[in-house]
Amino acid sequence: MKISCDIISDLLPLYHDGVCNEASKKLVEEHLSECDTCRAMLEKLSDNRLDDRISAEREDVVQHHAKATKRRSLVVGTVIASILMIPVLVTFIVNLATAGALNWFFIVIASLMVFASVTVVPLVVEKNKGIWTLGSFIGSLLLLFLTINIFNGQNWFFLATIPTIFGLSIIFAPFVVKQLPLTGFASRHKGLLAMAINTVLLYATIVVSGLHVGGGTDYWRTSLLITSACLIYPWALFLAIRYIKANKLVRTGVCFIISGAFIPFVNDFVSWVLYGTWYTNLLNANLFSWQFGPVNTSNANVSLLILLTCFAVGSALVAIGLSRKKKSS
Ligand SMILES: [Zn+2]
Repeated sequence: MKISCDIISDLLPLYHDGVCNEASKKLVEEHLSECDTCRAMLEKLSDNRLDDRISAEREDVVQHHAKATKRRSLVVGTVIASILMIPVLVTFIVNLATAGALNWFFIVIASLMVFASVTVVPLVVEKNKGIWTLGSFIGSLLLLFLTINIFNGQNWFFLATIPTIFGLSIIFAPFVVKQLPLTGFASRHKGLLAMAINTVLLYATIVVSGLHVGGGTDYWRTSLLITSACLIYPWALFLAIRYIKANKLVRTGVCFIISGAFIPFVNDFVSWVLYGTWYTNLLNANLFSWQFGPVNTSNANVSLLILLTCFAVGSALVAIGLSRKKKSS
């Protein structure tokens, strides 16, 4: 039986990849022994391996380029580090010569380390650049605080460091925690961990400030009560967003309701802590009278509007969210 080149050209790719059955294979081979055109076609198919070779070479080039970039940043980093050694050496000599001992030299060293942490470190470190840079920046900054503190014979080191770490942590804790190689419970609750770290640092800031000013019972009572009350709000929002198992609409709605239940009363609570008597500002609300006079209806009206709006928008979103869930399931 004579088979046309058309059929063979259909079979050729399968034959080339070695996936056609024995009968087809035999047919193709018989045809190839007699037909130059199809043999040429098979050779062309084999040449496609060239593509593989090209892509392999391309990868080589990319890798080579990455290596070159790495080497270059390592060189630049080393150069900056060695340039930094010049002021180190100069201040070392000058400090020794003028003071007869090393004192403010350490401040210079610490400042240069802060500089190096954001220039040399990201250039030289290969993995986890962000964490290494941040870590060395904070470490050298604290060292700078400490050396200045010791040099001036003062005692504000903790007063400066704890709030500084707290401030940085608010921004960076989520990113740092995300990159940490955690396992088990901690790996599933990284957001919770970041929130807990920030909460602890906030209380540490209050404690260190209180100790520094020698705050009495009043300081501890007011600061701890007001802080704890205010913390309820971000924590409630976080827990709602992270742990309510529902769609985004429902979670957004819950956040609105939490806001409506919190914002109108936080001032009442703060006044109670400060002045000792509870006063529900919302009870003065009267939407037909807006005044700041003896009875402050304006503030109360704003509170009332916040409460009503948040509850209305919140429950509407929850309702829509829940109905969508039912439809889809
Ligand atoms: Zn043929």
